[in-house]
Amino acid sequence: MHDRAPASPQALDALRRVYEELDAELLATGAICLASGNCCNFPEYGHTLFATGLEADYIRAHVPREKFRWASEELCPFWVERKCTIREHRALGCRSYFCDRTKTDALNAIHERYLARIRALEREHGIEPRYAPLIRIMADWPESAPPEGRA
Ligand code: SF4
Repeated sequence: MHDRAPASPQALDALRRVYEELDAELLATGAICLASGNCCNFPEYGHTLFATGLEADYIRAHVPREKFRWASEELCPFWVERKCTIREHRALGCRSYFCDRTKTDALNAIHERYLARIRALEREHGIEPRYAPLIRIMADWPESAPPEGRA
């Protein structure tokens, strides 16, 4: 368990604005999402999705307990029937990863730039920096477990 103070509403709102800019930039790359759901299949694609503490706080602040559906300890609890159930709250790594490999360089550059911006936001708002697998962060939250215990 990793105890830390949650991000303030001001920090969460600042992150929301950063995500809006990010989404506009990603759209402008022309990268195509075929909605295959493959990008969230971490075990099969050998992915580890990292997120900052601020991004995890953003999910925690917006996502109710009923949304957590742990199918295994390796899969994101919001990946249901190959779709993301928290799309508007998802992290930078979720937003900037496309299986459209023709745009990889542009997407990587955007990812790095926005990661630096999110880390700067953490400093600006006095948030203890953290960068860890999102699943691992979420697994520590009491609300991520169903009442009878995690599946
Ligand atoms: S939050 Fe959504 S996009 Fe990100 S890994 Fe989970 S299901 Fe996939």
